[in-house]
Amino acid sequence: FFIAVEGGDGAGKSTQVEALAEWIRSKGHEVVVTREPGATPIGQRLRGILLDVASDSLSHQAEALLYAADRAEHVQSVITPALERGAVVITDRYVDSSVAYQGAGRDLSSVEVSRISRWATGGLVPHLTVLLDVSPETARERFTEAPDRLESEPSEFHLRVRGGFLALAAADPARYLVIDAGQDAESVTMAARHRLDQMLPL
Ligand code: C5P
Repeated sequence: FFIAVEGGDGAGKSTQVEALAEWIRSKGHEVVVTREPGATPIGQRLRGILLDVASDSLSHQAEALLYAADRAEHVQSVITPALERGAVVITDRYVDSSVAYQGAGRDLSSVEVSRISRWATGGLVPHLTVLLDVSPETARERFTEAPDRLESEPSEFHLRVRGGFLALAAADPARYLVIDAGQDAESVTMAARHRLDQMLPL
């Protein structure tokens, strides 16, 4: 069973991924927690390039291709092997992040970005995508560390990203759970658990 947790920077994805993983494990399942970019050795190097504050000269096309390269490695060496042995996989970011950031956020066509991702993943789609929706203002208040290259983007960029995620969810409501991530973390976890309870053979 494959779950993606998506959302903008500061939406609380990593907290929710951990909370859900712990809950699913408590039911006796193997859970593999993973993330993008950077879940593999090659991915770590790509993450370094992608999030380097100094790499402002990176073209948008190259950025999209590097995320796709990271994802291809991720699917082949982490996600697919785990799913094949019956584990529940929870990934912090997946294809939707590319469509939202490189598509809606940058000036690239969302259709093209989806196509690159589909090729990179061999068409592997999550059973459920949990979208943590939060306003850029609330998200910004949550940053504790120095912002990385993307977090330093202006709020218009983050608004476009947010719109990109919401458009994906609206186009395929059966496969998405959109949660207001401005709520406290526990309420967000409960909303996700409620939906997963109906889906997972737990
Ligand atoms: O989720 P995490 O903080 O690890 O993501 C790292 C950074 O990469 C974030 O600032 C996010 O905005 C950016 N990112 C992106 N495009 C993606 C995935 C992540 O710009 N497809």
